[in-house]
Amino acid sequence: MEQGTSLLYDLVGFDVAEVTVSPLGVRVLVLCCVQVQGCPDCGTVTDRVHSRRPVQVRDLPFGRPWLVRWDKRGMFCDQARCPRRTFVERSTQLGPRQRLTSRLRSHLERAVSGSRRAVSDVAREYGVSWWSVNHALVVAAARVCGPAPEGVRLLGVDETRARSVRWMLSEAGWKRSDPWMTSFVDLDLDPAHPGGLLGLAPGRSGASVRGWLGLQSQTFRDGIEVVAIDPSAPFARAPRELLPGATMVVDHWHLHRLAALMLTEVRQRATRERLGHRGRLTNDVWAYRRLLLRAGDSLTGRQKSRLQATFRHHDPTREILHAWAGKELLRHLPVKIDGGARPYEIRERLDVFYSHAARSNIPELTRLATTIDTWWPAVEAFLRLRITNARTEGYNTNIKLIKRTARGFRSQTNYERRILLANAATAA
Ligand SMILES: [Zn+2]
Repeated sequence: MEQGTSLLYDLVGFDVAEVTVSPLGVRVLVLCCVQVQGCPDCGTVTDRVHSRRPVQVRDLPFGRPWLVRWDKRGMFCDQARCPRRTFVERSTQLGPRQRLTSRLRSHLERAVSGSRRAVSDVAREYGVSWWSVNHALVVAAARVCGPAPEGVRLLGVDETRARSVRWMLSEAGWKRSDPWMTSFVDLDLDPAHPGGLLGLAPGRSGASVRGWLGLQSQTFRDGIEVVAIDPSAPFARAPRELLPGATMVVDHWHLHRLAALMLTEVRQRATRERLGHRGRLTNDVWAYRRLLLRAGDSLTGRQKSRLQATFRHHDPTREILHAWAGKELLRHLPVKIDGGARPYEIRERLDVFYSHAARSNIPELTRLATTIDTWWPAVEAFLRLRITNARTEGYNTNIKLIKRTARGFRSQTNYERRILLANAATAA
């Protein structure tokens, strides 16, 4: 065959000997372009062939399916002291027991990882099986799923729902399956430090965090200076044990979320106690539930008077008003600190919140105050260091998109691989 054909075909290490076209596709007969081969045991080179065995491998499609046929040579090893008498020639493009060329496999892997396409979709386009594409992903994932690189200083730990809630019928009745995943992210914003998703662990318990941290090297653990987490007790226990030298931070958004939750709980309970049922559209406190959660200083004059009227007419115990005031007091803490407040100013504002909580004596508000008191050292560390978990939450959005494309995953391992590969593809 002409040299040009081999150049065009560009399969590294091979010459094209013959091309035939059939209704099934294009068949390319290739020959290894290196005549001599080294024995894998002793390294002695030889060109003595004892047999030829044809192998057929699928290659990248160019308009229609392409098949490569390679008459693989069996060689003799001429080194007298070598225990291996014969060996089969090897190639990086056409590896042993492979049904696809390496370049097709890396194409398949990139087609899935670089986009949010489903495995089945890519398999259909390339005319290969779902298993072939998945295998390509498994091989590629082995490179990124290993232990996290050392030198990470700022670690973010966050939870994400791995899939929607399922109900399963067991002998004891219906059981709720609520699968969660914990993600670990490098939070460093330093451009010299690319950051990224470091790993995933199934579940969202302290055991998930402990398991993943335990898999990392001691050097990795010693290098962590700051851990950003959600204010949840099981989450915090593992880093405290395994990363005793690291500072724990909880960012202020979590406080806002807890405060909003507290206000909603108070509103629901107060309404239930007053009316004997949950809130309805005709009931003003329920109708203005969104207004309650809005930032107090962003309300218009009309919204403010509406809220005041609600408190006057529909909140006889004044519990909703006190809960709302508690939320507002808390909301002012970080805003003030963003502007460069001193520690004693923060402390003063916090004391105003605590005394308000104590005077109001509402169970939900007291519970919130206790939670904040427990987590305050971590919040204060956040206010000082300004390291936020926002990036971790950004990855969670990506994770949800991957799940949606695949219409869910039956295998947790495949799911984790997809997430880590997609993340590696965006980081590259
Ligand atoms: Zn040998």
